[in-house]
Amino acid sequence: MLVAKYYNNSDIRLEEMPVPKIGPGEILVKVAASGICGTDAMEWYRIKKAPRILGHEIAGEIIESQSRRYKAGQRVFVSHHVPCNTCKYCLAGNHTACPTLHQGNYDPGGYSEFIRVPKINVDHGVYVLPRGVTYDEGTMIEPLACAVRGLRLIDVREGQTVLILGSGVSGILNIQLSKLKGARVVATDINPYRLNKAKEFGADEVISADKKLDILADKVIVCTGAFKAVEQAFQCIDKKGTVLLFAIPDKDIPLPIPDFWRNELTVTSSYGAAPADLKEALRLIADQKVNVKDTITHKLPLSKIQEGFNVVVEAKESLKVVLVP
Ligand SMILES: [Zn+2]
Ligand SMILES: [Zn+2]
Repeated sequence: MLVAKYYNNSDIRLEEMPVPKIGPGEILVKVAASGICGTDAMEWYRIKKAPRILGHEIAGEIIESQSRRYKAGQRVFVSHHVPCNTCKYCLAGNHTACPTLHQGNYDPGGYSEFIRVPKINVDHGVYVLPRGVTYDEGTMIEPLACAVRGLRLIDVREGQTVLILGSGVSGILNIQLSKLKGARVVATDINPYRLNKAKEFGADEVISADKKLDILADKVIVCTGAFKAVEQAFQCIDKKGTVLLFAIPDKDIPLPIPDFWRNELTVTSSYGAAPADLKEALRLIADQKVNVKDTITHKLPLSKIQEGFNVVVEAKESLKVVLVP
């Protein structure tokens, strides 16, 4: 089968590998669509474990099953990381801090024609797609779930002003979810195409990120790795407000400590998604509450993965890039 091995952002190699063999309790999934995550193109982060077959936003068809719960022919989304549900983090509802969640993955990775799903992922991380949900939409369950989790953590409420810095695909998902919560949403980006998209997907106001942002928000969600966005977040956060680092820059952030103290600010982060978030994301997609379909701007064969990564790294006239093995 064809796989794509990541060495760095400009060196992704196509290779052949045998189709993995499954064991008791496991399933084999033929990948039908595989999204490129923004974090896969965060070179400083990914290069540490390279070379590696990345990809964790997949949907596909079960073609072989040794699990009693699932059978061949079912259309599914599979979560690459699953929690143990028994450690102290899981029991406190902090599943994304679970060591098991960080260790596990499917084999060999989402940029592949087939994946072997280990038993623990089969038991806690397989979601059957309802008939109305396409494979393309299935690839958006994980990214949407990450946004669901972030918004839950910072408790976005009706009537609040939410400032979303960066209108790439994660910004667009955060815009839609914040609107669903009844918030007023202001979104930024440096790219006019993405500003237009932000408007299309429901932002009440869009501002070019290279202008001075004259706004005070109850919640600021940083959805870009641009360092300047973090500075803007601290300039625009209202008293008692919360800054969510949904995306992060690759260097440390100086915290404006006096402002933090006087204004009682909170800065927090959100990593990944827990099963409850994935379930919620699938429901939002199935009920057409969130439009994920139109966030997919590029579809390419797996063999053109390098081109896909270039599009993601360029971050211009694109939102989601989906690969088709
Ligand atoms: Zn992702
Ligand atoms: Zn755990």
